[in-house]
Amino acid sequence: TESRTQALIASADAHSAHNYHPLPVVVATAEGAWMTDVEGRRYLDMLAGYSALNFGHGNRRLIDAAKAQLERVTLTSRAFHHDRFAEFCTRLAALCGKDMVLPMNTGAEAVETAVKTARKWGYRVKGVPDGQAKIVVAADNFHGRTTTIVSFSTDPEARADFGPYTPGFEIVPYGDLDALREAVTDETVAVLIEPIQGEAGVLVPPADYLAGVRELTRERNVLFIADEIQSGLGRTGKTFACEHEDVVPDMYVLGKALGGGVVPVSAVVASREVLGVYRPGEHGSTFGGNPLACAVALEVIAMLETGEYQEKATELGEHLHRELGLLVGGGAVREVRGRGLWAGVDIDPSYGTGREISEKLMERGVLVKDTHGSTIRIAPPLVISKEDLDWGLDQLRAVLGTE
Ligand code: PLP
Repeated sequence: TESRTQALIASADAHSAHNYHPLPVVVATAEGAWMTDVEGRRYLDMLAGYSALNFGHGNRRLIDAAKAQLERVTLTSRAFHHDRFAEFCTRLAALCGKDMVLPMNTGAEAVETAVKTARKWGYRVKGVPDGQAKIVVAADNFHGRTTTIVSFSTDPEARADFGPYTPGFEIVPYGDLDALREAVTDETVAVLIEPIQGEAGVLVPPADYLAGVRELTRERNVLFIADEIQSGLGRTGKTFACEHEDVVPDMYVLGKALGGGVVPVSAVVASREVLGVYRPGEHGSTFGGNPLACAVALEVIAMLETGEYQEKATELGEHLHRELGLLVGGGAVREVRGRGLWAGVDIDPSYGTGREISEKLMERGVLVKDTHGSTIRIAPPLVISKEDLDWGLDQLRAVLGTE
């Protein structure tokens, strides 16, 4: 007889577009770092919604903040002011050391906002001739799924069949400062990069790369846009991954954990010179900066202000990387990359694809996700206990036969 899991997956397959290939688990409830499926089986969440769930499932502070706001007002649109907006913008700008915030909902929308902002700044402030603005990006980037964003993707899966593509982007190899220096021209308005490339397999750039990007962009009067949607807000052990190189970009692009895994919240955060370019009617979003989003994000900001989650990511991250490092070269594991509580583990293909390893981990009660064939990503909620993390690592060693 068909299980509840099989029935739900079959019916989802019949009536939803197949733009994802989820692991065959149907989650019903979750708390902290643990999820329970419709059969009552428990799983350790080592993906955390691609870092949207940094503060764990069902985080009490976030749920209470959301519930309280649900009883007050959830949406005004930006046609009117609401009483959570000013505090949200002020506190988020302060967390970033910037002046202004432009709130949106999803990561891709925030990236689009950064692109539009950089172009407008280019024409209005830098003086680039109309229609000539160029933005330099990195190969193997992942910034989202809109038509403009996939226009500068180098992943054929993400890009094929979605043209015609938006012009105005130049792609250089990630981590290569010389290539970047050559690509930057007088028409360049911005360099847009991930401080650590997440979807590419948790690629950490060479030491001093981010500092080099900062120096180059400052010299050439070009905006440095850091897409910290996945790397930011505690994941790497700092509020922002750029901090590891003491780098402050001109624009932070934030999303995922900003909404605590409760509501979609994203934002661009920058100086007055940059975000001050907008006039009414030039950009917006019905839900961007809504009261519910602001209430939840304010709680996220409050949790990040104490530094305790960053500290936890640092401590547990050191442990995670020490343990994973022991697996390198011993057979199944070719390389481990990452920072803080975030790792990309390259599996020797003879031990199975990333997908196969992920399915075996699932059978042992651990949920991760593969990327690019032979890499698995580990990014548990920052609230995971050391005991649970160790248990998860035990399961990984068991699956890889390296106990
Ligand atoms: N930018 C980065 C670095 C991301 O990792 C992601 C999502 O994985 C996005 C942008 C897109 O965010 P969203 O899926 O919310 O549109």
